[in-house]
Amino acid sequence: MENKMKCPKCGQKEKVKNGFMNGFMRGRQKYKCKNCGCNYTGG
Ligand SMILES: [Zn+2]
Repeated sequence: MENKMKCPKCGQKEKVKNGFMNGFMRGRQKYKCKNCGCNYTGG
């Protein structure tokens, strides 16, 4: 399946993996946008 996830702020799809969520959201992949540097979580 194609990954269409993109940055919620700028819409840029270029991103880098930035570790994993802890606690309640444990195990969710975190990403950091290459364009604006904002952090967001992928499904
Ligand atoms: Zn961005």
